[in-house]
Amino acid sequence: MTTTMETLSIKTENKFRTLISKQTYLKGEMICTMPSENIMDKPNRYTVQIARDRHTHVGKLAALNHSCDPNVILDTDKMLMIARRDIEKGEELSFFYPSTEWEMQAPFICLCGAANCIHVVAGARFLPLSTLENHYLNPHIRDLMIELLKNTRLHLKKLQEG
Ligand SMILES: [Zn+2]
Repeated sequence: MTTTMETLSIKTENKFRTLISKQTYLKGEMICTMPSENIMDKPNRYTVQIARDRHTHVGKLAALNHSCDPNVILDTDKMLMIARRDIEKGEELSFFYPSTEWEMQAPFICLCGAANCIHVVAGARFLPLSTLENHYLNPHIRDLMIELLKNTRLHLKKLQEG
């Protein structure tokens, strides 16, 4: 298994960074492992959330942009980046940020142009379940979503009783 990222390159244009694949990948194929040497308890622009209070500094993978119709998945359970569909040589790689991020430090407006574009990218907690269900979600995001739903139900019950 390759742990290096030598098949990936970073392209910078007008200070905007993109991550490019230097080779083709088939759907389901592993592209690289995710770095896990540098774990933090708070997110920043170079981290990916891997558990409730754990954010890993992803190095080169920080150049991965968000897309609402992405071509890669970050599996934070196995710590792998996997092709979500066939990828061509020279293609830009992207993933769905809310699949790992619960609450982002720096939300932004998405202009990806996908038919299912979520427009405001702020983390999974700000998206309806019906939207999240259409995406690959990591275990910590599922857990946090279930917890949020439970708390909401409890809160509504209290309001009704009060
Ligand atoms: Zn979008």
